[in-house]
Amino acid sequence: SKNPGGNRITFFSNEMNEQAMARLELESYLRKALQKNEFYLCYQPLVDLATGKTYGSEALIRWNHPKLGLVSPMEFIPLAEETGLIEEIGSWVLRTACMQNKKWQLMGMHDLSISVNVSANQFSQPGFLREVVKALDDSGLEPEYLTLELTESIMLRNIDYSISVMKALQELGVKVSIDDFGTGYSSLSYLKNLPINTLKIDRSFINNLRLNTSDIAIVKAIITMGHGLAVKVVAEGVETKEQIELLKELKCHYAQGYYIHKPLSSDDFEKGLLATPQT
Ligand code: C2E
Ligand code: CA
Ligand code: CA
Ligand code: CA
Repeated sequence: SKNPGGNRITFFSNEMNEQAMARLELESYLRKALQKNEFYLCYQPLVDLATGKTYGSEALIRWNHPKLGLVSPMEFIPLAEETGLIEEIGSWVLRTACMQNKKWQLMGMHDLSISVNVSANQFSQPGFLREVVKALDDSGLEPEYLTLELTESIMLRNIDYSISVMKALQELGVKVSIDDFGTGYSSLSYLKNLPINTLKIDRSFINNLRLNTSDIAIVKAIITMGHGLAVKVVAEGVETKEQIELLKELKCHYAQGYYIHKPLSSDDFEKGLLATPQT
């Protein structure tokens, strides 16, 4: 052509179009995913380090699209947040997780707990508390068996409003956990005012946990702080026996990770637990 510079511009804008198209395509698939039943939940066991027993699980969403295959939540949850789809998806996760956990309790795992991730836009919507109440009512799950995992980014948006919602949740009997603890703002002065039951240490601190690393000092400090604040501490991302042994020594309450169990389908979770009765 006459103008190579012009071609270059066309080339770039085509590439940008492609990215925008891919995003639009993903978004349009995401809009239909609920009705088409493409979501399901996996359940990753949470164990009590003192007894080695599974006391509950974390529900983790999975999206299996017929054309794209499995799409990671790291990819579609942010998109769901941006497009407002998170309200519907989050509500589906909450209801499905509560129902499943109640079903397992009725099968004999009476004290089993369920943890559910809540994203920022879901937490901030005015109807959020009502939705939690409805999920509990409809499933028959008692509130003490439900833990909601919130990230620090949620609280940074509007700390006073967040605290009031967290307090209301606790008044219902629902437990509140801070997820990915240590990666966000984590100011110690705000922590003492937060109505929380659990701190979940981010897996980046646990993954590298070995004797004589600086991570050990951080993890130890978080656990000590948890004991001081009468808050339970969970270590996520436990991948080795050495890490488990260390966490036990440090008196960490709970753990979760590939070394213990990967996220399991509901069937596998059920089979595993029934094979080894927990009580
Ligand atoms: P998260 O809440 O921090 O969840 C833990 C993630 O770590 C999960 O990834 C889990 O599969 C993974 N994991 C567990 N044990 C190990 C381990 O030993 N090593 C390593 N490397 N990873 C481990 P997943 O399922 O891909 O979820 C990623 C993130 O997507 C979650 O991080 C959470 O932020 C978000 N997410 C997942 N499900 C939901 C949901 O239902 N609602 C919302 N709002 N977010 C969700
Ligand atoms: Ca989580
Ligand atoms: Ca986490
Ligand atoms: Ca995370």
